[in-house]
Amino acid sequence: MSNIETLYKHYLQHRTICTDTRNITQDCLFFALKGEHFDANTFAAQALEKGAAFCIIDNESYKTDQRCLLFDDVLSTLQDLARHHRNQLHIPVIGLTGSNGKTTTKELINAVLAEKYKTFATKGNLNNHIGVPLSILAIDESVEIAVIEMGANHQKEIEFLCGLCRPDHGLITNVGMAHLDGFGGFEGVKKGKAELYAYLKQHAGHTFLNRDNAFLMEMSARAQLDNITYYGTHQSDRVSGKLLTSDPFIEISWTLAGQSYAAKANLTGAYNFENILAAICIGQFFGLVPEQINKGLAGYFPSNNRSQLTKTEHNTVICDFYNANPSSMTAALNNISGLSSAHKVAIIGDMFELGPESLQQHDLIAAKAAASGLDLVIFIGKDFYQYKDKYKGLFFHTPQQTREFLLENPVKNSLVLLKGSRGMALEQLMPLL
Ligand code: ATP
Ligand code: MG
Repeated sequence: MSNIETLYKHYLQHRTICTDTRNITQDCLFFALKGEHFDANTFAAQALEKGAAFCIIDNESYKTDQRCLLFDDVLSTLQDLARHHRNQLHIPVIGLTGSNGKTTTKELINAVLAEKYKTFATKGNLNNHIGVPLSILAIDESVEIAVIEMGANHQKEIEFLCGLCRPDHGLITNVGMAHLDGFGGFEGVKKGKAELYAYLKQHAGHTFLNRDNAFLMEMSARAQLDNITYYGTHQSDRVSGKLLTSDPFIEISWTLAGQSYAAKANLTGAYNFENILAAICIGQFFGLVPEQINKGLAGYFPSNNRSQLTKTEHNTVICDFYNANPSSMTAALNNISGLSSAHKVAIIGDMFELGPESLQQHDLIAAKAAASGLDLVIFIGKDFYQYKDKYKGLFFHTPQQTREFLLENPVKNSLVLLKGSRGMALEQLMPLL
């Protein structure tokens, strides 16, 4: 059996980690993880052939030569290696979680901090028990500050991820109606996310906290946090802000130590106000001057289908179809209602992972969408479909059926919100908009 110290030496020599034989890079370490439908032990030989320096496997029968390093369990070895690496890093690590806005806030924080530091931030949405270790292992010696996104859909997950990335600064963006199934309702969401506060309390960490969020305030009081920098809309906050407009892009004014500044971001959606303030608060904490902070914010252009305004040949589309849950759907509907356009359309798909509350939540969102004063609402998915006779709008079972409808009845000259859960894959409608 191989050991972590030896593996760490190999890692320091080779640095890149691969978990997919389709993306093998020369001299990488290939971790043969198990998925729902595959066991990557079976790809070990192929990975070596394609150029991997070593394969980390947990099934001896796939050991072809000395380059196959046998461990009890590949996933826990990846996590152990990340833990080991984290222990060698002496840089601030900002850990963030929350129900909505993690990736957006992470990108904004990164854009701001990068004006002064060599930063590392989680790539894309690699925020789970595999993504967090991969993120940690992507931090090299040149990095001065790291921003790590942590996602969760059940209890104890954030606690586990904190144990891996050991954040010394933390931020919960918000708590909302997301992953209700795995967390056991909204109280469960609060409990699960508060594991970050518990970690920070226990390890003398520092928290960035939105004073306007009553749930977060309650959770931080319960965790007895004492090392906090506040942001929000109160004068007493270290960074306080005011939303000036979000039509269609956000502009805010913000105040630090009695001085006011104006900032712009290339994001739509008033809900991004709190994400931006968090990034400003973190920027000033790490010593950036206001000009650097504003430059970082203005330089971030979303390309990840979150709060992204895209002009197509016929319409302006709010591309927000990366994911959806009742909280973010509410925020997105409020946003389009408030935007100026002669003709507004919402195309919204089912929200997944809501457990026993699913139908009720779809009912609430359908009611909200129907009452939002939009010119047309198109509902897609089997849960929304249940309410086809209750609310005004068009209802389709699948995106394919919606495609057929849109081919016959194209939407033109409109402001369109396109949003649904990842599994609905609503991006397939983009070519028709
Ligand atoms: P995931 O759980 O997929 O990692 P996330 O927490 O990283 O999601 P983002 O990907 O940044 O969140 O944003 C997803 C969607 O959530 C956005 O497209 C937007 O609709 C909504 N959203 C973003 N920020 C907020 C916020 N502060 N409050 C409410 N909704 C938000
Ligand atoms: Mg995310």
